[in-house]
Amino acid sequence: MAEPTRDAILAALSKVIDPETKRDVVSLGMVQGLVVKGGNVGLALEVDPAKAKAKERVRQACEDAVAQVSGVLSATVVLTAESAGSRETPVQRGHAHHGHAHGGAPAATPGAKSSRPDIPGIRSILAVASAKGGVGKSTTAVNLAVALSRLGARVGLLDCDIYGPSIPRLMNLSGRPDSIDGKTMQPMENYGVRCMSIGFLVDEDTAMIWRGPMVMGALEQMLRDVRWGDLDVLVCDLPPGTGDAQLTMAQRVPLSGTVIVSTPQDIALLDVVRGINMFRKVDVPVLGLIENMSYFICPHCQGRSDVFAHGGAHATADKLGVPFLGEIPLHMRIRETSDAGHPIVVAEPEGEHAKAYLAIAGRVMEMLSGGSAARAAPKIVMV
Ligand code: ADP
Repeated sequence: MAEPTRDAILAALSKVIDPETKRDVVSLGMVQGLVVKGGNVGLALEVDPAKAKAKERVRQACEDAVAQVSGVLSATVVLTAESAGSRETPVQRGHAHHGHAHGGAPAATPGAKSSRPDIPGIRSILAVASAKGGVGKSTTAVNLAVALSRLGARVGLLDCDIYGPSIPRLMNLSGRPDSIDGKTMQPMENYGVRCMSIGFLVDEDTAMIWRGPMVMGALEQMLRDVRWGDLDVLVCDLPPGTGDAQLTMAQRVPLSGTVIVSTPQDIALLDVVRGINMFRKVDVPVLGLIENMSYFICPHCQGRSDVFAHGGAHATADKLGVPFLGEIPLHMRIRETSDAGHPIVVAEPEGEHAKAYLAIAGRVMEMLSGGSAARAAPKIVMV
């Protein structure tokens, strides 16, 4: 019998009504960490610990509903409670934080946690990082964001590069964000993705001298003073490198996880190891590595050449116990579309390149919502 799909499970769960609120458990955001493995389905229902007893009936109803779905061999539903300081509204959170709260992974130190409070309405925050510039990090961030949106997620994109913002150009956005109340800004939107960048606020050709604290101030403002609305994922395009600036950001932004973009050259990969260690230090799970400009596809004959030692990122990922998320070829169309502000995922939505980004986006989404792949993530944090 075919393995049941996540959608089928969620559809069944969306018929289970919580008697207290008279709403279904999916739209209430109670469903956490859905895992479907060979017909065995597991998930957690997030409840107020004080009401755990009363929710037992809902838990049972969920188990029954899942068990009815064609292809399901077993259904396990457990109740889980947010730890102290939980939100008033039942918002489903990114797996990483969930893991920290309940999964036995080391929690961030109290100081670190309070310096990165959650942002209401944003379920998970994904950083796209690279050990050095020019590896295609921004191109990857943009295509991932658009791909996540195509997969049905509500997506935001935050350009964390204060010195060299590239999101306005890559997303073909210009002008200034509106502000209704003079205090908060509306994000700019294109291709279904809500964006914020310092490039919208300061002219591109204005030379800017930023001191460290100003950078953090600008970043905090773009993060917290923007009306993002409800987002499943906010993709943060970090500035290149894994130095102090990135470390500070990782500490200040409540990141659910990070993906690291690398080219296959070995030297870049040495830096990648450093980058991974940096994120581990601040308890941000590394969801995986993406190899960009992995191999070359000739635009004339479509022949493939492994210009660099292809597969280096995969080998490094294996060595470090980090998932390998996929590879993107070096292709003229990716550069042309990216630089023209028309990312390949929208420009050629049915093409091979779009499919590669969509596949990576699918895995990332799964990890952020607590799917099987994410189960490996806390392991990484503990090292
Ligand atoms: P970074 O953010 O790491 O500095 P960018 O995303 O700005 O890198 O990419 C640097 C240049 O490489 C850009 O011109 C971009 O269009 C190009 N580029 C990125 N990824 C690819 C790819 N897979 N194939 C071809 N060109 C690419």
